[in-house]
Amino acid sequence: MNDTVSDNLQKVRKRIELASAAAGRASDAVKLLAVSKTMPAQAVRDAHAAGQLAFGENYIQEGVDKIASLADLPLEWHCIGPIQSNKSKWVAENFAWAHSIDRLKIAERLSAQRPAHLPPLQVCLQVNVDGGNNKSGVAPGELLALAQAVAKLPHLQLRGIMTIPEPSENKAQIQAVHRRARELFDSLNEAGLKLDTLSMGMTADLEIAITEGSTCLRVGTAIFGARS
Ligand SMILES: *Cc1c(COP(=O)(O)O)cnc(C)c1O
Repeated sequence: MNDTVSDNLQKVRKRIELASAAAGRASDAVKLLAVSKTMPAQAVRDAHAAGQLAFGENYIQEGVDKIASLADLPLEWHCIGPIQSNKSKWVAENFAWAHSIDRLKIAERLSAQRPAHLPPLQVCLQVNVDGGNNKSGVAPGELLALAQAVAKLPHLQLRGIMTIPEPSENKAQIQAVHRRARELFDSLNEAGLKLDTLSMGMTADLEIAITEGSTCLRVGTAIFGARS
């Protein structure tokens, strides 16, 4: 048992509580995913021992191996990294959620490959809100059409959208990206989709994300320490 992970989790929960209070939001309106990419299975066990149940993984092969070695724990696994066609089956068979869908083709494969004995895969569409070149994500102008198509797939349940702002020292710029994501999320609901998940906010920007309406934070470094 490593007390550092437990202490770090307490600090992150405190940050969420303070930011939620400042924003006039209930702190249990924001879900915390512990992003365990590159971290050993033992770090996940430590976080679980400190009460954490939901975990995010970026690299599918690494995630699948970790899920298998932690199958004795009642954890909820979220795929938050890019999904190539040849890896979609692994995601469909092993994860509860996928946050990083940005093409209909991948969504169709995930739906077709979702095993019948599992509940529908819970999905978010990744949106490239600020147009960063190196990033995956659907363009805002194509989001509604993709959402409407994904919502029809039988073995997926569309829950919301996910965004990753370009890293920046400029807080106002990050905040503008979060705000735009929130507007896109609201516009999908106004178009008749029933979405409850706005996945945004990481170690550096979780307070801003809470202010702008995030319902799901993805936090790695502040919980597990720096990645090498
Ligand atoms: C790594 C990663 C995170 C966590 O980032 P930290 O800055 O370590 O909190 C969140 N979301 C995605 C998509 C990531 O790749």
